[in-house]
Amino acid sequence: MSDPKSRSAETDVVQGMHTVDPATGSIVPAIVPSTTYARDEKYALIDPALSYSRDENPTYDTAEALLTRLEGGVSSLLFSSGMASACAVFKALKPGDHVVVPKVMYWGLRNWLIKFCDRWGIGLEQFDAADPNDLGSKVIAKKTTLVWIETPCNPTWDIIDIRSAAEIAHAAGALLAVDSTVATPVLSQPIELGADIVMHSATKYLNGHGDVVAGALVAAKETDLWVRIAEGRAQEGAILGPFEAWLLQRGMRTLFMRVRQASQTAMMIATHFADHPSLDRVLYPGLSQHPGHKTAKKQMYGGFGGMLSLCVGQNEREALAFVKRCQVFIRATSLGGIESLVEHRYSIEGPDSPIPANLVRLSVGAETAEDLIDDIEQALT
Ligand SMILES: *Cc1c(COP(=O)(O)O)cnc(C)c1O
Repeated sequence: MSDPKSRSAETDVVQGMHTVDPATGSIVPAIVPSTTYARDEKYALIDPALSYSRDENPTYDTAEALLTRLEGGVSSLLFSSGMASACAVFKALKPGDHVVVPKVMYWGLRNWLIKFCDRWGIGLEQFDAADPNDLGSKVIAKKTTLVWIETPCNPTWDIIDIRSAAEIAHAAGALLAVDSTVATPVLSQPIELGADIVMHSATKYLNGHGDVVAGALVAAKETDLWVRIAEGRAQEGAILGPFEAWLLQRGMRTLFMRVRQASQTAMMIATHFADHPSLDRVLYPGLSQHPGHKTAKKQMYGGFGGMLSLCVGQNEREALAFVKRCQVFIRATSLGGIESLVEHRYSIEGPDSPIPANLVRLSVGAETAEDLIDDIEQALT
C-alpha cells in the first residue's frame, strides 16, 4: 500500500483527503447546519471543540484541510468572503503599525484599506510593483509590521517576486501576506517561497462555479497575528454558512483540472492575439514579452493562470465596442469560474482608476479554446 504521506496534493484534493465517515461510510462529508451543540448529563460537550457555530463548524473541516494541504501551511480559516478574510488580517493589526501594499491591487481592498488605516492610525505605504527596488525602499526596519502583496496583480498581471518580498519583509521584522487568488495553489505555493499568510478569494478559482462567495486564509506558522485573526473570526463572526462551506469543498475537488485547462486556453488565446493589429497590447505573464515573465516562470509551476487582459485600440470607446460585441464571453465582473467572463475595469473603477481605459479583462473558463478565440476574433472586427 502506498504511504498516504507520499501522495500528491492533487490526489488528496480530488478525494477530499480520502475521508470516509466512520458512522455511515459516506465518502462525501455531511453538512452540519446546527447552530448549537448539546451537552451530556455531566454537562460536558459531546465534542469539546463544538459548542456554538460562530466559533467552529465541522462543515468547514474538509475545505480548511484541503487548503492547508495545498498551501503547505499549518492551519486555515474560512471566511464569509475574500474581503472578509483580507480585512481580518488588517483588523488584527494595532494602531501605530505600518503596512506596505502594491499600488495596483484588488480595487475593493485598496479602497477599504486607505480609509481603514487612516481611521485606525495604521501607517500605509504603497509601492510600485513594476519597479523591483521600490518595495525595499518603502519598508521601514523595525517599524513595518506587514507587507501585503498580490501576484499576479489584477488586472495588469504584473508579477511580484514572492521570495524577494519575503526576504525584504523578514529583514525588517515584518510578516508577508500574499493574495494568491489569481495564481491558485495549483500554480504557486507562496509559503514555500517565504510567505507567512496566504489569502484567497475562494469565490474565484477555489470554488470555481460562480455560486459561492467565500474567503480563506492559510498560516505558515502560528504567529501572534494568526491567533488574533482566529479570535477575530470567532468573536466578530465573519463566518461562512455551512452550505457554502460544503459547496466550496465540492468545487475544490476539480480545482487542478479547471486551473490547468484555463491556463492552457489562456496561453493559446494570448499567443494567438499577441500581434493582432487591432490590439495595442496583450497582457499575460505567460508571454515572453510580459515584464513579469521571468519571475512568473520562477514562482508559477505548470502554467500562468486563466487571467489575461487585452488593450483594445487606443481608447475607452474601442474597448467598450469590443466588449459589446462579445457573444461567448459573458459581460460580468468576477473571475475564476468555468464560464468565461469579459470586463471593462475602467468603467467600473472610474476616472481615478490607475487601469488603462482601453484595457479589457478576460477570465478564461472551461469552454473550448476554439470558441473563445473565434469570439474574440469576431468582436475585434
Ligand atoms: C475577488 C477578489 C478579492 C475579494 O474577494 P471577494 O470574495 O469578492 O470578497 C480579493 N482579491 C482578489 C485578487 C480578487 O480577485
